[in-house]
Amino acid sequence: MAIDSKTLHSKLKEFFGFDSFKGDQEKIIEHLVSGKDAFVLMPTGGGKSLCYQLPALVMDGTAIVISPLIALMKNQVDAIRGFVSGNDGIAHFLNSSLSKAQLNEVREDLLSGATKLLYVAPESLTKAENTDMLKEIRISFYAVDEAHCISEWGHDFRPEYRRIRSIIDAIGPAPIIALTATATPKVQSDILKNLGIQDAKVFKSSFNRPNLYYEIRDKSDPKRDIIRFIRQNPGKSGIIYCLSRKKVEELAELLNINGIKALPYHAGLDARTRAENQDKFLMEEIDVIVATIAFGMGIDKPDVRFVIHYDIPKSLEGYYQETGRAGRDGGEGKCIAFYSYKDILKLEKFMQGKPVAEQEIGKQLLLETMAYAESNQCRRKLLMNYFGEDYTRDNCGACDNCLNPKKQFDGQEEMCLIIELIESMPEHFKTEHLANILAGESNALIKSYEQDKLELFGAGRDHSVRFWCDIIHQGIVRHFLEKDIESYGLIGVTDTGREFREHPYTIMLTGERQFAEGEDDDEDMPVQGVKAGGGGDQVLLEMLKKLRSDLSKKLHLQPWIIFGDPALEDMSITYPVSIEDLKNCQGVGEGKARKYGGEFISLISKYVEENEIERPDDFVVKSMGNPSSANKLYIIQGIDRKLSLEDIAAAKGLEMDELLTEIETIVAAGTKLDINYYISQTVDDDIVDEIYDYFKEEAASDSLQDAMNDLGQDYDEFEVRLVRIKFLCEVAN
Ligand code: ADP
Ligand code: ZN
Repeated sequence: MAIDSKTLHSKLKEFFGFDSFKGDQEKIIEHLVSGKDAFVLMPTGGGKSLCYQLPALVMDGTAIVISPLIALMKNQVDAIRGFVSGNDGIAHFLNSSLSKAQLNEVREDLLSGATKLLYVAPESLTKAENTDMLKEIRISFYAVDEAHCISEWGHDFRPEYRRIRSIIDAIGPAPIIALTATATPKVQSDILKNLGIQDAKVFKSSFNRPNLYYEIRDKSDPKRDIIRFIRQNPGKSGIIYCLSRKKVEELAELLNINGIKALPYHAGLDARTRAENQDKFLMEEIDVIVATIAFGMGIDKPDVRFVIHYDIPKSLEGYYQETGRAGRDGGEGKCIAFYSYKDILKLEKFMQGKPVAEQEIGKQLLLETMAYAESNQCRRKLLMNYFGEDYTRDNCGACDNCLNPKKQFDGQEEMCLIIELIESMPEHFKTEHLANILAGESNALIKSYEQDKLELFGAGRDHSVRFWCDIIHQGIVRHFLEKDIESYGLIGVTDTGREFREHPYTIMLTGERQFAEGEDDDEDMPVQGVKAGGGGDQVLLEMLKKLRSDLSKKLHLQPWIIFGDPALEDMSITYPVSIEDLKNCQGVGEGKARKYGGEFISLISKYVEENEIERPDDFVVKSMGNPSSANKLYIIQGIDRKLSLEDIAAAKGLEMDELLTEIETIVAAGTKLDINYYISQTVDDDIVDEIYDYFKEEAASDSLQDAMNDLGQDYDEFEVRLVRIKFLCEVAN
């Protein structure tokens, strides 16, 4: 059927009201209406839908649109009915939500030839009654939307998608158009092969989105960073993605407490709440939506000004798709992702126990994400290369690495040292363990293996544990080292690694990242001037870290026990000059402020005076939920009287879990509680010692999450929490 360009243009105007086609749209449509298969790769916002909607309206027969987004089908159908008023039969959808009566209506319109577009979910397509019905009608073409769902290597694999070809064969042949907004070369070839359209013409637009800015931030204090960022961008719309529903709820609440209009969105909310929250975002009654990845598919809000990833995503494809929702109108779009290696470990943990093939794929995708996050190269270039596109400019001018290049050094000696260490030992160990050995930081585990007597113990003591962890990650990313996820991340050497050690060559690595523990005696950090980087006063921050490092040596305590990084960062922002001020910093209670605060306050006061700094006192992140003071008092008194925690919990109608949380809050605020009477009755002495030692000797912070990760599954969370409380009361607070 020949449809000329003039007709296409007039239909474009008639149905959609547009004067001209965007990008490759016209070429794609011409190709399709001439009866040939097409494969369309277009970034989000490129105008993919029109590539099948317009042909469907002008061609004979019904177009079958296969889409995984059941929730959006109705919207799409409504939109088309809107273009062609007075003819509701023109578009329908077929999915499990339809009633019998609705199904009959669809059937009638299909058989009478009234319907030009039929949206179907792949699982509905596989039902015999549906395929039988479709055999009776004339099909103009098949459109496979979100085609990356076909590939296991895509970020949203759906097994039903792999059956599309056989169903099409059963229904009857017609041209196929497959469309996606993200596909690596591997996913592309999977799609073509699986749909049996290897000869399809590929229409690939550039995926580069010049108006988007990419940045990866160290996840040392993401909540505070996010609040600060949003306050610096008042009134702008943004999406924040978290991996878990719990985090979504928590963060949305925290933002509200801090005066930011935000709502949650995730699959656990009922449909009505979800729809309401989404509408409020679209209508700009709220500025920020905090969501799991369930949000945003098909959302067309043109002026989303930032997309923040609170957690690093599982794949770069997912990441790119999600960042793509920023700046669709071509205006500003800031994409900030928080990265910590701990998150990678968490994601790896989720993979354990999955089928091996799936694990392999997941591991590979995660490794690529990690490589991206840790890279010092242009983010845009990395992304474009990942999607099989050349990007030749040296400096894109709109990513963190181009704007603030990281310091690099030739790391061949360091990498060889790690490989040598691993090869010298009969067993494999985890990253932190290897880093501890090289940095010469002994602990119980190292002693038990007598590794503190190894020749290489302390061979890299010029650098911190954190430095060595970073180098090991970079070794993994470069495939010198590999990590076995099934066995909890033990590190081995690859063939490439062995070859490298035999014939080393220059490799440019980055040193410690911005918020590393300040214990190394590297040449002095370049003075960056006040208010650089994370928004705090970097010069002051370095001075505070130095002070902490000195104190830590003097008191024989790990730095975090004195003050954690978040506390120091807060100090570098709020310039506390009294114990009262100091208590507003994160993780600093009364006890800690009095015990360790004196020298910090003097240092800051002097600094403030000398530099004539005007102290801001407006920026305090308000935290959520403090236990009611009645509970608090009862708990403190109950513990004083040595009541069992079970009794205290029962008396206040709390779950044990909730009681512990309250106790933790009390302790964090600086009150000392002695729960030894309870611990000695409920936890084995050896276990108490082991956990206690862990916090004293090994832990890099007081984080419970980290403790659970580091200690492994042999320890019960309840026990770890109890001992942590004991430790905080006796040593840290
Ligand atoms: P995608 O599915 O590729 O993310 P959409 O099909 O949702 O993109 O289109 C993105 C936006 O571009 C929509 O607002 C759509 O109305 C608009 N659009 C599509 N084609 C054209 C065109 N030819 N001219 C102007 N706007 C267009
Ligand atoms: Zn760049």
